[in-house]
Amino acid sequence: MHIYNTLSRSNELFRCVDGKKVGLYACGPTVYFYAHIGNMRAYITVDTLRRALVHEGYAVRHVMNITDVGHNVGDDDTGEDKIRMEARKEHRGIEEIIRFYTEKFFEEEALLNIQKPEVTCRASEHIGSMLDLIGRLDEKGYIYKAGNGMYFDTSKSKGYGRLAGSSFERMNKDLRAGARVERPEGLRNITDFTVWRFANQEERDMVWNSRFGKGFPGWHIECSAMSMEYLGETIDIHTGGTDHIPIHHTNEMAQSEAATGKRFVRYWVHSAFMTVDGRKMSKSLRNIHTVEGLVKMGYLPLAFRYMCLTVHYRNMMNFTFEGLERAQKSLKALYAFVSRISAIDGGGHPDTELVGKAEKLRGEFFESVGDDLDIPAAITKMHGLVNLAGRAKLSGAEAKRMLAIMLDFDSVLGLGFDLHMSSALPGEAKKLIWQREDARGRKDFKTSDEIRSRLRKDFKITLEDTEEGTVWYMSVD
Ligand SMILES: [Zn+2]
Repeated sequence: MHIYNTLSRSNELFRCVDGKKVGLYACGPTVYFYAHIGNMRAYITVDTLRRALVHEGYAVRHVMNITDVGHNVGDDDTGEDKIRMEARKEHRGIEEIIRFYTEKFFEEEALLNIQKPEVTCRASEHIGSMLDLIGRLDEKGYIYKAGNGMYFDTSKSKGYGRLAGSSFERMNKDLRAGARVERPEGLRNITDFTVWRFANQEERDMVWNSRFGKGFPGWHIECSAMSMEYLGETIDIHTGGTDHIPIHHTNEMAQSEAATGKRFVRYWVHSAFMTVDGRKMSKSLRNIHTVEGLVKMGYLPLAFRYMCLTVHYRNMMNFTFEGLERAQKSLKALYAFVSRISAIDGGGHPDTELVGKAEKLRGEFFESVGDDLDIPAAITKMHGLVNLAGRAKLSGAEAKRMLAIMLDFDSVLGLGFDLHMSSALPGEAKKLIWQREDARGRKDFKTSDEIRSRLRKDFKITLEDTEEGTVWYMSVD
């Protein structure tokens, strides 16, 4: 498998430190508000990467942090803590805000069929490891006291800024031109960042004692400390959004390598941005959507996943409702195909030419997956299979082979094909669907409509008549 490494700016053959065990660290959400669809795109990328690695035979240990302290409004340590700000605005307690938005986040992940990481870690529960790491940096002379906290001296970091394709000098020059808002007294370089911020109990609820003084950790130190705690000092893959590259990941890398003297990450994988109707998502444009919002509008959440998968993760994606509509139509056609072939009974001899063509498409599908996760190309191969099978009258044996291939594809795509196999239907629901087909055949539309409502009410199954035949899917509401 080849994967694009942001650090080398090239496609590299993937090899992990420990044979077949991959350590994967994904920067998780700051739980101060709802995650929007642009955030969720990045988590779909991680999930697809994780599934692809498992398909390649790797055992993946996936660690994701929950930032519940220390992430300020400005990623460069400026402004107020995001969670405190939201708590004040909503007149709710900090813990309540954290719990509420963490739960919301995992609900949305589940709707998108995103598999849970092996480890989910809350920053506020790992202050000890962060202070140990800060202590190591202190012993090596990398940190100093300035203004409101302990700062990391970026001039001492070897190759600072290279993840962003820049350098210490260039980044400082650029930032000087942009003029940072807050410049604490005694700051040595504009790129220096806090590892520990001083604060009193009166100022904020979450503060901890340390030998540097009472306070709380900086955002970047969280990810360095927690990734090392769960995955060791060198991790195989670190993911995030492209917006993390210049500050968050650049600083994570600088302090981690300073503390350990080892390479921090072997492959940096970054997911590109999403726009809505060609514009950046922003509150003032009222174009911030959430997955829950799309569901309330009647869309299948997995139609959004499918839509994301049709754009390569390193390409900018533009979300439109027409696009989502199209994605949903394609997805339903795929569900119809799966339910149709899974209902074909009997054995018979498979047509070797047909099966040969199908297996060739399977091979090509996974070749694309292994080519820096080229899922859009892989999806084209899948549609090739659907067309191939659609033209043929399949015997039971052939249908079984096609179904197995579709399910193999879905182990990477995560579109929930298994839930649309006829065997996934409760027996009584299956009977009702047959009865409805029968009623439709007799043009008895009254009965047909009654059965449709009953399926929806009793089994949460929605039926739709398409060109491909009747398709059914589980409702999420
Ligand atoms: Zn992070």
